[in-house]
Amino acid sequence: MADYPRWLEKLNLGCPCGRDIPLSGGVYLCGCGRKAGAWDGAKAVIGSPIPYWGEIPQDQMRRLLEESQREGWRAAVRSLLDPVLCEYVTTPDRAAFQEILPLRPGALVLDVGAGMGGIAAELARNYRVVAQEGVAERADFIALRAAQEGLSENLAVVNGDVNSVGFGPGQFDAAIVSGVLEWVGLFDTSKGVTEVQVDFLRRLRGFLKPGGLIYVGIENRIGWAQLRGVPDHSGIPYTSLLPRFLATWICRRSRNYRSSHNATYRTYTYTHGGFLKLFARAGLRARSTHISVRGYDYPTELVPLVQEAIVTYTLEHLNQPGGLKDRLLNGLRLALAKPWFWRTFGADFVFVLEAAGA
Ligand SMILES: [Zn+2]
Repeated sequence: MADYPRWLEKLNLGCPCGRDIPLSGGVYLCGCGRKAGAWDGAKAVIGSPIPYWGEIPQDQMRRLLEESQREGWRAAVRSLLDPVLCEYVTTPDRAAFQEILPLRPGALVLDVGAGMGGIAAELARNYRVVAQEGVAERADFIALRAAQEGLSENLAVVNGDVNSVGFGPGQFDAAIVSGVLEWVGLFDTSKGVTEVQVDFLRRLRGFLKPGGLIYVGIENRIGWAQLRGVPDHSGIPYTSLLPRFLATWICRRSRNYRSSHNATYRTYTYTHGGFLKLFARAGLRARSTHISVRGYDYPTELVPLVQEAIVTYTLEHLNQPGGLKDRLLNGLRLALAKPWFWRTFGADFVFVLEAAGA
């Protein structure tokens, strides 16, 4: 189906023995005899795929794959997914963060936990992209989508678990971590959640070339949406606001898990200060921070945490001055158009990270 992208052959996986394993030749073999994975005709399969999980049930996902092959992926998505999910899968808006991510044309980008490929496919119009995805069906969907869009030259799919696909050091210009950092604690329960997240970021930092960047889109632990009771990653509202031990206690007793892996509370988000501390532990620092007003999934309105930008955005989005209530609301929003308020309660953060000391 998809041609093997030639540039992929220049990339290496790292073997635990310390050698590099080139992603070439169909089967990825190390000099030490270890087999790291193989090309299956559409994607590089590394290790064993993770159990199915995703936006839709597995049988519906399989139907989507079959129909995508017959009718094309866009038609299949339109006929089989509800309108909200259809928009999520097809819109180019999910990659609208490109304007704040300074990359040269043709840069090599790793999309971590690429899902249905919405971000990876869009980035592949400008860059060479490795889409890493743990679920086999979703990885197949990305490969199919890339082939049908004529993007296979620029988009290579790697099917492997986010915590175990190890690239050799210093190869990527950027890594995209959109809606992923909060989930990694679910897939490695051998240590504390924060430790898993720090190790994950540290590993990603190792994949980067000197000067490489990591883009992170994620919820604010105490953001406005969380305060209003939008369900947390646990599937239950307000759990991010609670002390972790209390959230764990509630999740242990609830049958409302969003993910069956979520046996305790392991989907940590943080406050602005908490994120900076987490990044520092991984040897990273924020080069820029924005609030994504439409949420990190739709980073079309990114407001940097500086006074003028926040005031400008607020003035452009005031209510029509009708009754007293609108005037009061507008007054309040202008009074709160301050970096400290947005940093504290802004709904979703978008960070561009670089190696500390770079
Ligand atoms: Zn080896």
